Amino acid sequence: MSARTIVVVGSVNIDDAIRMARLPGPGETVGARSLETGLGGKGANQAVAAARAGARVRMVGAVGSDGDVLVEALVAEGVDTDGVVRLPGRESGHAVILIDDGGENSIVVVPGANQSIPPSVVEDSCGRMLPGDVLLLQHEVPIETSRAAARAARAAGATVMWNAAPAPTSVDELVEEIDVLVVNEHELAAIAGLLGLEADRPDLIGVVADRLSADVICTLGAAGAIHRVDGVTGTAPAPRVEPVDTTAAGDTFIGYLAATTDLPFASRLATALTAGALAVTRPGASASIPTRAEVDEIVVARASSTPTERTTA
Ligand code: ADP
Repeated sequence: MSARTIVVVGSVNIDDAIRMARLPGPGETVGARSLETGLGGKGANQAVAAARAGARVRMVGAVGSDGDVLVEALVAEGVDTDGVVRLPGRESGHAVILIDDGGENSIVVVPGANQSIPPSVVEDSCGRMLPGDVLLLQHEVPIETSRAAARAARAAGATVMWNAAPAPTSVDELVEEIDVLVVNEHELAAIAGLLGLEADRPDLIGVVADRLSADVICTLGAAGAIHRVDGVTGTAPAPRVEPVDTTAAGDTFIGYLAATTDLPFASRLATALTAGALAVTRPGASASIPTRAEVDEIVVARASSTPTERTTA
C-alpha cells in the first residue's frame, strides 16, 4: 500500500438500481425485472475504487439518519470514514438508476445530505493533507464545498484532481484551484462551451488545459482516453470488453488514476483504463469495481501483447 493518502470530498448515496426491458417514456409505467440497493454516489464510488486499487483513502461527506449502512459499506472497503458526518433529521443522497436490457441507463439523483457537508470537516481533513496526497473532487456537492477543499489541499501541498461530473452548466460552477481535470467527452465539451471554445476544434484538450492551467484527462468510453499532461497530448486505448452495465466506469477509472500516482503516467493510464473496462463487464455501481489484482493481471497480459500509448507533441 502506498504511503500517500487520497482524500475524497464528495457524494455518498443510496443507489437503487432497477432493471427493466426498456426505459419508460413520459407518462408510461413499465414493470421492472429486479431492484438492487447499494452504496453509490460519485464520491463514494471513487473512494471505493481508490481503496480497491490499494491506496489509503479518507472519505469526507455527509449522510442522513438513514446513512449507517453507507458508512458501514465504506468501512468494509477499508475507507477511513471519520470525515463522514451523520446529519440527524436529514436523508442521505439517493439515486434511482433505471437500466434497460441494452445497458442504457437513466438516473435521477436526490442530493439530500450531500448538500450540507460541514465546512469545518472539509477544512480539517484537507488542511491535514501532505505533499504527494491527492484530493479527489466531483460535482455532486455544492461548488463552495469543492472550492474550500481545493484551497485547503493546495495550501497543504497536495494535488487536486477534479472530476467535473455532472457537467458544469455555468462558469460559476468551475473549480479554479486544480492540478488535474478528469472528464468524459460530454463534460469536456460542456467546459469548452463555458470557456467560449468550439468543442470540435482538434486541439481542444490542449487549449482547455492551457486555460485552466491544469493537466486534462478525457475518457472516451470504449475508445479509451485522450490526455494532455505536462504540455503533451496523447491517447491510449481501453481493453475491448463486452459491456453489461457502464455505471461507475468513469468513477472506477478516476479512483484508480488517483491511487496510482507512484507509477509512470503510461502505466497509471493503462491501469485506470483496464479498471474502467472491467467495471463495465459487471452490474452495479461500487459492486462493479475490480480489485487491483484483477486489473494488474490484465495490464501485464496486455503489455506483453499490444502497444498501449501514443503521444503527439
Ligand atoms: P463515464 O462513465 O464517466 O461517461 P466513459 O464512458 O468515458 O466515462 O468510461 C470511462 C472508462 O471506462 C473508459 O476510459 C474505459 O476505460 C472504460 N469503459 C467505458 N466503456 C467501455 C467499453 N464499452 N469498453 C471498454 N471500456 C470501457
